[in-house]
Amino acid sequence: MSDSNKHFSEAAWSDFVRQLVAADQRTEMQAHLDAGCAECIQSYNVWVQVVQIAAPEVENEPPRDGIQSVKSKFPPSR
Ligand SMILES: [Zn+2]
Repeated sequence: MSDSNKHFSEAAWSDFVRQLVAADQRTEMQAHLDAGCAECIQSYNVWVQVVQIAAPEVENEPPRDGIQSVKSKFPPSR
């Protein structure tokens, strides 16, 4: 068995971060992170940041004023 040498794809980490992977794969991937694979930890960390930026703020709703001020600082250029 050489499963410990198997890396997961960027797409897999993307799904992992968004909790779209099946439970058994999730366990495998978590174990891979816990094993300390630097490459995959880096991919994972990148996706965590991407998802945090891209995902709508479900748990911490930003105040409307905050959104408005951001919009006024960055007016649409189109
Ligand atoms: Zn890996």
